[in-house]
Amino acid sequence: MTLTPGDPLLLTPGPLTTAAETRDAMRHDWGSRDQAFIDANAAVRRKLLEIANATDTHVCVPLQGSGTFVVEAALCTLIPKSGKALILVNGAYGKRMGKILEYAGRAFEISETAEDVPPDAAALTAKLAADKSITHVLVVHCETTSGILNPIADIAHAVKDAGRSLIIDAMSAFGAIELDLAKVPFDAVMASSNKCLEGVPGMGFALIRKTVLEGCAGNSHSLALDLYDQWKAMEANGQWRFTPPTHVIFAFAKAIEQFEAEGGQPGRFKRYSENCRILIDGMADLGFQTLLPQGLQAPIIVTFHMPSDPAFDFQVFYDKVKDRGFVLYPGKLTVAPSFRVGCIGHLGAAEMKAALKAMSDVLNEMGVKTGAPQAAE
Ligand SMILES: *Cc1c(COP(=O)(O)O)cnc(C)c1O
Repeated sequence: MTLTPGDPLLLTPGPLTTAAETRDAMRHDWGSRDQAFIDANAAVRRKLLEIANATDTHVCVPLQGSGTFVVEAALCTLIPKSGKALILVNGAYGKRMGKILEYAGRAFEISETAEDVPPDAAALTAKLAADKSITHVLVVHCETTSGILNPIADIAHAVKDAGRSLIIDAMSAFGAIELDLAKVPFDAVMASSNKCLEGVPGMGFALIRKTVLEGCAGNSHSLALDLYDQWKAMEANGQWRFTPPTHVIFAFAKAIEQFEAEGGQPGRFKRYSENCRILIDGMADLGFQTLLPQGLQAPIIVTFHMPSDPAFDFQVFYDKVKDRGFVLYPGKLTVAPSFRVGCIGHLGAAEMKAALKAMSDVLNEMGVKTGAPQAAE
């Protein structure tokens, strides 16, 4: 790993630790009409489509901002004012899509399962058969709230068989967990520069079925978030409509180069899976328990139950681990008190082991005997 000494290692859901080469790629200025920039932008867009095996049928529309910007943009561009969405919710990011549609004044319904329970494809099929007014289904690939991997292929086929449109928030999975259009038919997928592709934060992108996007003129209530307009303008001259995040795109191009050198998605999946295994095994040695059983756990971020030892205080633990150079992440769960540790970003086995050593030392210093949670009733 090419790390910068003194920088903290981010064991979080993003922004993440990036390679020094990626950050070095930003050391210049480019004009937005610079041919080098236009070429880099086109190459990034093409490569993002390749990752999902979607080059023949889909287009890549990038957008300035964090991941939520492109989620909001995609939902409001793709779902017409006369449409109705069904959102499969099992965490905060699914709920956020509901909030977006509330702001946008689109009709929607939520089908919710607990944060540690994946949505059920058979129930979805029944729901779609019962309510013909549903035009779009929205789902999160890896729900970062818990780290759960949702059964995306089963859901995609249920939606396709029912003749509806599927929109996937794959923000925290894209590039690390397989998402192959041939196996997971989708109309749109959203992700961002700063998660598993290990770029710097600043832009999101949507891969959208071209025949669908062609019919989306005038749907969006927002000029800045209109992905139809963004696409049309970029197709016309290769440029962004408004100031592009030039440095972010050059860093993204460099990050994608390293992604390819690592063997693309299978290579990245392998490293993150190893990170995840080291983390879970090491935390188990300290007494910690994961929220999710192994079969539901994505190798992205792991939720641990809060220890019940009276000497444990999360804020103290967090601060002391941070002082040793590792940033953890608080929990966001409603089902149980918890905290999270990420396994994504420019980190490998050595960094995961160093993080475990830091956590173990801090527990000793705090006088915490075990990381075990309250025994289940
Ligand atoms: C990170 C993430 C987002 C976007 O969050 P931002 O803070 O806006 O970048 C959306 N969905 C999921 C599942 C995520 O993990």
